Amino acid sequence: MVKREKILITGCVQGVGFRPAVYRLAKGLGLSGFVFNDTKGVTIELQGQEEQITEFLSRLQSGPDKPPLAEIKTCEVVDIGVAEGEKEFVITSSESAGTALSQVTADIAICRDCLSEMCDENDFRHGYPFINCTNCGPRYSIVRNIPYDRPNTTMSFFQMCDRCGGQYTDVADRRFHAQPVACGACGPRILLVDSGGKTVVMQSDEVIAETARMLAAGKIVAIKGVGGFHLAVDALNEEAVRELRRRKRRDYKPFALMAGSIDKIRKYAVVSEAAEKVLKSPQSPIVLLGKRPGCGIAESVAEGVNTFGFMLCYAPLHYLLFAEGLEVLVMTSGNISDEPLICRNDLAVERLGGVADAFLMHDREIYRQVDDSIVHFIGGEAVLLRRARGYVPTPVRIDQPCGRDIFAAGADMKNTFCFVKQNQLICSEHIGDLEDAEVYHHYINSIEHLRRLFEVEPKVVVCDLHPGYLSTQYALSMPGVEVVQVQHHWAHIASVLAEHGLEGPVIGLACDGTGYGGDGAVWGCECLIASLSDFRRFGHLSYYALAGADRAAKEAVRPVIGLLRKTYGDEFRLEEFGRLLARIEPDANRREMVSQQLEKGINTVETSSLGRVFDAVAGMVGLGGYNYFEAQLPMALEAIIVEGVEDCYDFEFAVGDDEQLKLDLSKTIEQLIGDVRQGRESGVISARFHNSIAGALLEMAKRARESEDLNTVALSGGVFCNRYLTNRLVRLLKREGFCVLFNRAVPSNDGGMALGQAAIGANLVNRAP
Ligand SMILES: [Zn+2]
Ligand SMILES: [Zn+2]
Repeated sequence: MVKREKILITGCVQGVGFRPAVYRLAKGLGLSGFVFNDTKGVTIELQGQEEQITEFLSRLQSGPDKPPLAEIKTCEVVDIGVAEGEKEFVITSSESAGTALSQVTADIAICRDCLSEMCDENDFRHGYPFINCTNCGPRYSIVRNIPYDRPNTTMSFFQMCDRCGGQYTDVADRRFHAQPVACGACGPRILLVDSGGKTVVMQSDEVIAETARMLAAGKIVAIKGVGGFHLAVDALNEEAVRELRRRKRRDYKPFALMAGSIDKIRKYAVVSEAAEKVLKSPQSPIVLLGKRPGCGIAESVAEGVNTFGFMLCYAPLHYLLFAEGLEVLVMTSGNISDEPLICRNDLAVERLGGVADAFLMHDREIYRQVDDSIVHFIGGEAVLLRRARGYVPTPVRIDQPCGRDIFAAGADMKNTFCFVKQNQLICSEHIGDLEDAEVYHHYINSIEHLRRLFEVEPKVVVCDLHPGYLSTQYALSMPGVEVVQVQHHWAHIASVLAEHGLEGPVIGLACDGTGYGGDGAVWGCECLIASLSDFRRFGHLSYYALAGADRAAKEAVRPVIGLLRKTYGDEFRLEEFGRLLARIEPDANRREMVSQQLEKGINTVETSSLGRVFDAVAGMVGLGGYNYFEAQLPMALEAIIVEGVEDCYDFEFAVGDDEQLKLDLSKTIEQLIGDVRQGRESGVISARFHNSIAGALLEMAKRARESEDLNTVALSGGVFCNRYLTNRLVRLLKREGFCVLFNRAVPSNDGGMALGQAAIGANLVNRAP
């Protein structure tokens, strides 16, 4: 019997080759009708025999005909009247042009089909470094404007040849409307340039062979990828890696690594089944993996951490390079210290000429620089630590469309920002620390570019409470908008709620380094009763004094002396801690200065920062006294943990005059110092300390449950980037019967804050009468 069905599909179904896939499948099954995009997703009207329609639906939803990048959330099927005389199946334009959601999707790693074509000597794209199709290739990084069509991308400079054009216009082809489609005859080319900017090799295969030879010989080559330049060097060559560190200046951060296959990665790091899946995913992020000791990777690649950040080749160019016999490369961001990633050829030579011995470049312009994303695992789940290439601009969806467009400015550290448009929360990629002038400039430009790209007209702007934040000042300077200021840790917890599609209230444990509290103190270990509409402070780490606000996050001696004063009160004598403190700050005068500052209350703040407690403890056990990059000391403290230690130090709770629960770590610090003085192994002390914090946070949650009758705990804040602590706390909470939620789609550090701000803003708008 002939039937006609109207099918409404929602989810990630636009800009992923969904309509051509529908077309091919309908044609193949002899069905008639049409398909188009609209604001909700994809609408299909389908007419034909019932069995064919059933087969269509099953093959599209789960079978081989579902486009690899599509994610179907809902599929609604309604019986409608048969259209007499209809014979064809067609793709029609969007029902009301201009209202369809943005077609721009994320940059995607080379797909299996393209990879096998590139390796096939008989294919006309054999060995072509820019091969791509609807299922893979650059998107977000090459889009200048909307609509997402070739003239609005950086591919507009290249005139498609007849062969590419034929595939581009053939609806049955895998490259139908793949905007960056190209081949060796018509598309971008690679070239090798020396450190002074002079082109030395032009012939494609020679460029690749020569680059590989240079890398094998220990040279540093800047390689232009999808989202910007990488600085590459042989990861097994200690001398070469050190030289890269020396030339990059002030760079102590662990370097990311790249290899050509999972088997290669397995030689150097522990790859779980879940990690393998993420490494091979279309997003192709850096995945943090446990180091294999003595594996041969140069020591200076990742000192002071127990993981390597590995990624698989994701651009066709990477595969061609590794095919020349390269084993494993350092692939670190092509920038100087904390400046934005460099993506322009001329800028690369100008800025990196003193770092790289040569440049492997190409003439496909990168319009938006996009860093590599970073993933690690918490409770067996993949969690983003940095959200950029491959994930942006995929939105987080909310159920109720927001009545007004919103801009959320984010935080000043690890900044990302977020737009709300209808039912989508669209987060920007990792922008960086706004205190760097170039990063701030990039922030301002990015806001404007993405606002245009996603056609957002913000009427409401959400920002942090911190009056000194550049992002706050920027938000307050925007004309003609309603500004809403949101407390930092509330935004953290809201980001978890937004990701999980909840409104709350929940018990929120927000633990990080610094957040403006609103009571004049710097918050950082908070138990909040929080929903999207409101929050209340249930408890927090008891305040201690911190000297020198700006330097406190770098110099461990500051929180150490602050915590010692808190622990020992009036009995505190600086000279009694001479040996302990000398390891953290060798200069006695400076120690004295910090102590005086605290005593007299000069430039000091009260804080509940848990991040600073980790800095302090790292210093106490002898791991150094300075964070050369954010959270260096806490990461080192986590890295030395001895597994299998179950005991912990004591901690206490008291209820303050304000009726809030105060966590007191004086006993913890006292006992920990006792262990240090007895010469106990640092790794055991570290484990006991971590266990104490996990135990204290568990206790805080239990007291909140008793008092508030809530059973869901949301964890967020930079401290939860600590895998040992978070895994342990999640386990403890679950064992006590809590429902535990944490960030997965956005980082738990300040990189996820904008999402929380956006969700609070959307809730506010939708509640307004
Ligand atoms: Zn492909
Ligand atoms: Zn071509």
